[in-house]
Amino acid sequence: MSTLRTALTPRRKSSPTRGAPSPGGAQVAVQDVYKSFAQIHALRGVSLAVAPGEWVTITGPSGSGKTTLLNLIGSLEPPDSGRVLVNGQAVPPPARAVRFRREMVGFVFQDSFLLPYLTAQTNVETALLSVGMKRSERQRRSRDLLAEVGLTDRAGHIPAELSGGQRQGVALARALANDPRLLLADEPTGSLDSVSSERALDMLAAVRQRRGTTVIVVSHDPAVAARADRVVHLVDGLVQAGH
Ligand code: ADP
Ligand code: MG
Repeated sequence: MSTLRTALTPRRKSSPTRGAPSPGGAQVAVQDVYKSFAQIHALRGVSLAVAPGEWVTITGPSGSGKTTLLNLIGSLEPPDSGRVLVNGQAVPPPARAVRFRREMVGFVFQDSFLLPYLTAQTNVETALLSVGMKRSERQRRSRDLLAEVGLTDRAGHIPAELSGGQRQGVALARALANDPRLLLADEPTGSLDSVSSERALDMLAAVRQRRGTTVIVVSHDPAVAARADRVVHLVDGLVQAGH
């Protein structure tokens, strides 16, 4: 724990070469959104407002529309009707959302999707390839990001040499490469044992506290719900009232 604490000490704001200053969290508004897949009505009029820097966990049974809702917020899917606004601006449709996702969103999934033959550090570096950064700068940034999640000592290891929780930490570091204002995580602890889950949640909580990032997590896991500012319960494509 003490190493994690040390590693998570805030970056000095006075040093511009230590990465962009924390941009804070995005505001999210989902307004009366409907989404169907053929005859399946995945979302049937969902509204949700998330404040900047808030951590909301979306729970609900399998098939209740959680992933669909998260994908609409990140513009991985378009809604059939209704609106999704981030910082008051309509989220562009998926085909035109490259810039929105690059500038605003970090994704973490149940599977960490790390490249198996690359080290933790090189996996994080892949997220910086498109931004025209010099190799030495990419390497330094990746090391900083791994330090932020307390994984400095694992930087040179490939995914097979990491625990599940550490792999999710690398995935989180990679998701932070673009300094997102919104972190979207779909069952991020779904493949982890309870100890690793807590460790991964510690990383997420520390990142949120340090950066002020808005966090929306989809999860069945009561441990994830316990960390949230607010829990939203979906049932059959609707937000359950009174939850
Ligand atoms: P959850 O994440 O809560 O398990 P999903 O949002 O993944 O739920 O799915 C909601 C419903 O929509 C489910 O019945 C699912 O089978 C269906 N669904 C989701 N994505 C697709 C898709 N791409 N094509 C067809 N049906 C889908
Ligand atoms: Mg899902």
